[in-house]
Amino acid sequence: MKLAFLGGAKEVGRVAIALRAGGNFILLDYGVTVDQEPLFPMHVAPKDVDAIILSHCHLDHSGATPALYVRGGKPVYGTSLTFELSELLISDFIKIAGYYLPYEYVELQTMMYNCVNLNYGESAEVKGISFKLLNSGHVPGSAQAILEADGKRLLYTGDFNTRRTRLLKGADLIDDELDAVVIEGTYANEDHPNRADVERDFVNAVREVAEGGGTILVPAFSVGRSQEILCVLYAHRFEHPISLDGMAKEASQILLRHASSLLDPRLYAEAARNAYWVEDWQDRRVIARRPGVIISPAGMLKGGPAAFYLSEVGRSDRNAVFLVSYQIRGTPGRELLDKGACTINGREHKVKASVRRFDFSSHCGASELIEFLRRLKGSPTVYVVHADEENSKLFVKRAQEEVGLKAVAPNVGEVYDV
Ligand SMILES: [Zn+2]
Ligand SMILES: [Zn+2]
Repeated sequence: MKLAFLGGAKEVGRVAIALRAGGNFILLDYGVTVDQEPLFPMHVAPKDVDAIILSHCHLDHSGATPALYVRGGKPVYGTSLTFELSELLISDFIKIAGYYLPYEYVELQTMMYNCVNLNYGESAEVKGISFKLLNSGHVPGSAQAILEADGKRLLYTGDFNTRRTRLLKGADLIDDELDAVVIEGTYANEDHPNRADVERDFVNAVREVAEGGGTILVPAFSVGRSQEILCVLYAHRFEHPISLDGMAKEASQILLRHASSLLDPRLYAEAARNAYWVEDWQDRRVIARRPGVIISPAGMLKGGPAAFYLSEVGRSDRNAVFLVSYQIRGTPGRELLDKGACTINGREHKVKASVRRFDFSSHCGASELIEFLRRLKGSPTVYVVHADEENSKLFVKRAQEEVGLKAVAPNVGEVYDV
């Protein structure tokens, strides 16, 4: 079995890993780095690819996949929820990115036509490479994959979170003996704070602003984080109005149809029903000026209705902007956190509202990564992906020294024999 790292190595973004066994070829994810200009993984000839396994919907894992469907089809395996959410996110990506993508809607449609749904635990086989998906606890529908070929067994974690959240169970633990593990190391350098504490701090802070007559803007990713915040507020019996806007509405609608894949389907359904789903601009102007919470993409304020809300909510020090995800350097969200002001689409926003960040991460923290490796059976070689260069090296060192496993941080373009 050979592994080639086509992207997502010593970087967070454009994940693409090729697995070759006995002349056959499976791709594990084929994503893009979404920046000013999208960055794609190394090219593969679509005709060489026998199948693709999609770990989850995020564009850094799914966003380049339609490029493999310019001519004809090959099966793409994943959970049905991953496919519905990927279609939503990739459609939006096409709309925003414009002409320079190497594919269009028609390729996305061909890809959707070739989807093969797999439930967690269900097995499949492509030309002698067998595999199954397991829950990864990262976003709804997300999966880890265990693959077997040439008498070797490999685990690909995708993005994963072993801690339970309001929305999802923690990632499944792996019982199988492994020869190799390809693992994400996004947070190899830090632990996340205790989740219950984060929830309590967040709800207290939101309540305080609302009780003072203020509006709280919560910029959040459409998929996962928006619904997590809905559930957190509902579970804590938050008594002021909650509004939901932008693509978070479509994602929430999809999750209502797939509520059984969530940890607590009833909590989610009630939390979604409890929120007001914003319909139009008149709605937006009204809710931006009344006490309550507005949950809206984009999570890092790069666009979406959150940009409009910021200009309204930001005007008064009675209001607040609570960021609920990591803010990447160079995004308006990060600028706002660092300087209290930011520029969106060329327009400068001076923000009087109070600004805070709460760590609702859906990735493992450093201790969970090490603990996960400790529990693995066999003596697998560790390949670290989905981490910047520093964290990749740090994670390799810890895996070697603290867990006693052979570990490497591949570079893009490198090939390894498992
Ligand atoms: Zn992800
Ligand atoms: Zn990712």
